[in-house]
Amino acid sequence: MNTVRTVATLRAALAEPRRTGARIGLVPTMGALHAGHLSLIERARQQCDVVVMSLFVNPAQFNEASDFAGYPRDEARDAALAAEAGVDLLFAPSVEEVYPPGFATTVSVSGLTDRLEGAYRGQGHFDGVTTVVTKLLNMVAPDVVYFGHKDIQQVTVIRRLVLDLDLPLRIETCPTVRNADGLALSSRNAHLSPAERDRALSLSRALRGAADAVAGGERDAAAIRGQALAALRAAGVEPEYFELVAPDTLEPVDAVERPVLALVAARVGRTRLIDNQLLTLAGSQAPARQSELIT
Ligand code: AMP
Repeated sequence: MNTVRTVATLRAALAEPRRTGARIGLVPTMGALHAGHLSLIERARQQCDVVVMSLFVNPAQFNEASDFAGYPRDEARDAALAAEAGVDLLFAPSVEEVYPPGFATTVSVSGLTDRLEGAYRGQGHFDGVTTVVTKLLNMVAPDVVYFGHKDIQQVTVIRRLVLDLDLPLRIETCPTVRNADGLALSSRNAHLSPAERDRALSLSRALRGAADAVAGGERDAAAIRGQALAALRAAGVEPEYFELVAPDTLEPVDAVERPVLALVAARVGRTRLIDNQLLTLAGSQAPARQSELIT
């Protein structure tokens, strides 16, 4: 695996494979790699000739300075895991390389970004995401870009962006990787104390409860939501939101008449966690099917 730090060396490294028609895959990450990231790399490895992983903790998408400062960083460990998982090219630019002096452009997607994560983290969060993702897509010019279902609103926003800006690439969404007890893997889980980790399980439990309720015939979104909120509160977790929305528009729904996304965000101690699950009328589906339905 080769590590490059500038756009010029990245483009030089990709010139020859691109000329010979190699399929290039990009896995954007902020590092602190776990099995969720590795599943994206694995999928890219299966589908592409050249796998590029970007490693960039993007200051523009953090709405809290302490979250940015405390974000886990260990490039040597990440590089070893990426190489082992089959990454060919690690792109690990500095903040100055991505945002040189005079940088003055923001890519902003409206509508989809003003709710859920956008409502709680502020418009700046998604502007930071869409700006850096647009830049990474222009820098790497991949044929396929890989994202996790774990951040489903982000995927929905980027899907809109790629469509609206006519970017010539395919988006592949990979299922959320979880611990055996259901907790969705996240770099931020490292901040949880054992007691907080226990409470954090209430997020995936509440989502599963919602899926079970739908499987049991419940169609009323308010009832499903009320049950989930009660379960979270019983575990000592006050969520920022627990919403049932249409997967394409992210608009709240009143009834579950077709597949609906349940999304939850909550602070557990000082750690902010998000999770989501697709609720289908036939009940909770295997993760692979979940992402197929949305992609
Ligand atoms: P991050 O490093 O947190 O920006 O995440 C990089 C990519 O990994 C994003 O596309 C995430 O959605 C994805 N990802 C993070 N956690 C998981 C997970 N538990 N399962 C699958 N994908 C994930």
